[in-house]
Amino acid sequence: MGGNTTCLEVVHGDTHILFDAGSGIRDAGRALAASGSRQLHLFITHTHWDHIQGFPFFAPAYIPGFEIDIHAPHNVDKDVESIFGGQLDRAYFPVQMEDMQARLSFADLDNGSARIGDVTVSWVHAVHPGAAVAYKIEVGGQRLAFFPDNEFLKGYLGDPNDLAPDDERIAVHREQLEFLAGTHVLIHEAQYTNAEYAGKIGWGHSSVGNACGLIRLIGPERWIVTHHDPDHTDSDLQHKLSLTRQILRGQGCSTQVSHGHDGLVEYL
Ligand SMILES: [Zn+2]
Ligand SMILES: [Zn+2]
Repeated sequence: MGGNTTCLEVVHGDTHILFDAGSGIRDAGRALAASGSRQLHLFITHTHWDHIQGFPFFAPAYIPGFEIDIHAPHNVDKDVESIFGGQLDRAYFPVQMEDMQARLSFADLDNGSARIGDVTVSWVHAVHPGAAVAYKIEVGGQRLAFFPDNEFLKGYLGDPNDLAPDDERIAVHREQLEFLAGTHVLIHEAQYTNAEYAGKIGWGHSSVGNACGLIRLIGPERWIVTHHDPDHTDSDLQHKLSLTRQILRGQGCSTQVSHGHDGLVEYL
């Protein structure tokens, strides 16, 4: 399974919108540098390193004429521009942010949504340490949601099917569930097996069982599992995928599930 950290690109006509700047953004940047488009938007779920570490290697940032609007949730301690600039400090990297010749603009997400061409991007809080959000992308009646880091049913080790819909543990996710209603394709993590999750509660990631519980509640057509555990081998992931399919079947859920990987292309 690919070794890059998180980056998603949504393309609709001439509109290019990137989500997260993990190391995967390096390949995306190479393709964008060679393409005709010069206006880019980059939405950040949160500024943990695996979601921003690719930005210093993002070719369009160095090319005059590119305009890159970077949107991120408000961080109380430090603004996003200084967080991005911090990883371009001389101690870590040979070139600095002032060497980037694209026009970069940084803005905190407000409480609304953004319209970019025909695409609407909206956001909701994610259950993850620090200021973190997840996104929904809507275009032409299709809805794609991107939840790379989200601890659904935090701390719950039982079978999510045993929880009543009004159970407090589900109720805390009401905002997310409303946000996800009618989603066609959901990109959501399921980082830990149920056994591993018992030792990782509060780390900000879901167990396979709890993520399957979310899928049952919203019933997307497709689920792409992302944010694989760095300790999982290819065969661990294969095993985890079989387990996920087994749980979904047991729940009577018809959602098609697959694992995300480097270079995966999906058409909506
Ligand atoms: Zn994180
Ligand atoms: Zn992460």
